[in-house]
Amino acid sequence: ALAKRSRLQSERVRVAVRLRPKNAEDLADADYSDCVELQPELKRLKLRKNNWSSESYRFDQVFTESASQRRIYEVVAKPVVESVLDGCNGTVMAYGQTGTGKTYTLGRLGKEDESERGIMVRAMEDILAGTSTSDSVEVSYLQLYMESVQDLLAPEKINIPIMEDAKTGEVSVPGAEIVKIRNLDHFLQLLQLGEANRHAANTKMNTESSRSHAILTVHIRRSVQEKEDIDAGQQKEIPTDRHGHHVPTIRKSKLLLVDLAGSERLDKSGSEGHLLEEAKFINLSLTSLGKCINALAENSPHIPTRDSKLTRLLRDSFGGSARTSLIITIGPSSRHHAETASTIVFGQRAM
Ligand code: ADP
Ligand code: MG
Repeated sequence: ALAKRSRLQSERVRVAVRLRPKNAEDLADADYSDCVELQPELKRLKLRKNNWSSESYRFDQVFTESASQRRIYEVVAKPVVESVLDGCNGTVMAYGQTGTGKTYTLGRLGKEDESERGIMVRAMEDILAGTSTSDSVEVSYLQLYMESVQDLLAPEKINIPIMEDAKTGEVSVPGAEIVKIRNLDHFLQLLQLGEANRHAANTKMNTESSRSHAILTVHIRRSVQEKEDIDAGQQKEIPTDRHGHHVPTIRKSKLLLVDLAGSERLDKSGSEGHLLEEAKFINLSLTSLGKCINALAENSPHIPTRDSKLTRLLRDSFGGSARTSLIITIGPSSRHHAETASTIVFGQRAM
């Protein structure tokens, strides 16, 4: 019983906003003032324009600074993980200015304090619990920097090509390392390795990790029991090989967890050479992501995924039968009003 939804009824992106608690800089700021006011029960956020007026925005979910990692996972990511366990592809992404909590939300390992674990770890926990030993759970971990795909699990691999199956539309990166996950500890080690490689690669290139996208893909392969199909009341022909033996159907799906590059406008006017190139590429991938999200929101038959490597990688995990959640992360201080406003506008384009 494939739980795939119709290709024609593609679901729009679900958007949640998460506010980071005040950091040391905010607390030390004598002129601190709040940039936003959240009304989570109304799923509404008010962005202050000046001392006497504000603009109101609605989201699918609004999380205050006291929302726990567990709550974020359960509300935003768990439904996506469940649909991936049912055989659909899915994506959870974090978008926002550097320092607002994208990596905290997605990639936090929570080694000292398990309650701090982010979406990647919690998703893997549920996936391991929801699959059996006969199923296969594998991960790849990539970094996308200036339109080049690099392997965070095998840092010598750079400029890895993205492939697309002409018939099925399935996107793959066959040159990338793919690791079968044995247990949660094994996965935690891989995440830590990926994080260390991300640091090392960026130090070598003299860039910051805030300039690159990190993409963790969990590939799930399950052999579908015929019984399941019968239970679901489907009168389906059971596939057999040429000897008449039943062939188990393999159901493949994948979950993409994407820690996007910082959304802050890089100052193009002040940048030269490499920095200017970098700014253009980040703007290219985030702008093209915005266009795709917007096209989904408008139920457009054409989602323009060809314009950047980021959207090409997302292509089959995005729209159609796939479920997508976007978490936009913001800081509380009016000092970053412009960046917060632009993050909110990005999130609104998906609604
Ligand atoms: P980004 O990845 O968007 O650049 P980070 O996730 O690295 O931002 O967060 C910046 C800092 O703020 C980190 O020290 C992180 O631990 C802290 N932080 C972010 N969000 C939260 C949160 N919801 N609760 C507590 N600390 C947070
Ligand atoms: Mg980060």
